[in-house]
Amino acid sequence: GFRCGIVGLPNVGKSTLFNALTKTAAAQAANYPFCTIEPNTGDVAVPDPRLRDIAGIAKSANIIPTRITFVDIAGLVRGASKGEGLGNQFLANIREVDAIVHVLRCFEDDDITHVEGRIDPVADAETVETELMISDLESLERRVVATRKKATGKDKDALAQLPIMEKAIAAIEDGKPVRTIVAGLDGEERRELRNLNLLTSKPVLYVCNVAEEDAANGNAHSESVAKMAETQGAGSVVISAAIEAEIAQLPEDEVGDYLEAMGLTEPGLDRLIRAGYELLELITYFTAGPKETRAWTVHLGAKAPQAAGVIHTDFEKGFIRAQTIAFADYVSLGGEVAAKEAGKARDEGKEYVVADGDVMLFKFNV
Ligand code: GDP
Repeated sequence: GFRCGIVGLPNVGKSTLFNALTKTAAAQAANYPFCTIEPNTGDVAVPDPRLRDIAGIAKSANIIPTRITFVDIAGLVRGASKGEGLGNQFLANIREVDAIVHVLRCFEDDDITHVEGRIDPVADAETVETELMISDLESLERRVVATRKKATGKDKDALAQLPIMEKAIAAIEDGKPVRTIVAGLDGEERRELRNLNLLTSKPVLYVCNVAEEDAANGNAHSESVAKMAETQGAGSVVISAAIEAEIAQLPEDEVGDYLEAMGLTEPGLDRLIRAGYELLELITYFTAGPKETRAWTVHLGAKAPQAAGVIHTDFEKGFIRAQTIAFADYVSLGGEVAAKEAGKARDEGKEYVVADGDVMLFKFNV
């Protein structure tokens, strides 16, 4: 599955957020309960109102959302790249996730110690990022010597990799995380970059943890973070971990009133989960029938056979074609039969690139 790692300095609200994420009723789909894969790892349902629309039309007995995994990666301190604290373990854990959710303290509270003694989320972000950049630079400098040598000998892989390594090194020496070079790379170069598995090339979402009263509109700290995120090609969301912790404990029928009292229209965690999903460049397609309506996750750009393979590897191997109905058509026409009659159920083949919201039915050989 796809994994988002939650990082941040101590006492910024990571655990509060992680616990809310994995305990909230919405995250625990009724018939697919939250499961702990390992300590600090939680498998979370991706909220998607389209599921209910489709299930209503298909008269499905069950709704099964798609899921992503969040990992609470504790142990970051200044000096982590030099092995301080749990530094090495921390960096190794980050290496294993697909994207980083970086929690920043944007709330004032004199009772909660700030490790740096002041509230400054942009400076905090730089502290964490610096550790990651140092680690990337060391790893690049270790590897680039051999790559240069091989490139001189006209080794094809090395020739492809060397310019990307040089660009990554230049970015870090310029004080910038490697993800700032991604926009300027083509598809092949991005693949090379991914193969380097650097820490600062992973997509980042900043989570501004604000006080309850700032949850609806953010504050000056979260605005500074949003600006910083924009310059880096990162995302940012405003959340109050305290509110989310409260919501996670409420019975489901009381959540609406509580949100309204807080000036919110939906739980911040729903936005966080969706933002994480976008950050990972994932899209959803659906299968629908009397038994269940189910959401499935694929990478943006995935073709129909790969989508079928998410359900079962045999579906991918034996793929013949996929009956595909756009979500809007499925809903406006009122389901599969009506969509077929209206000519909106397309027969798609192996080269079809799946669109977000497609309602699909696969035909395959076994
Ligand atoms: P972590 O070290 O980053 O995992 O931080 P924790 O989640 O353990 O939170 C550290 C302390 O800050 C705890 O006492 C939390 O109750 C408190 N805390 C977390 N989020 C908020 C918040 O939004 N507002 C306030 N006032 N306190 C918070």
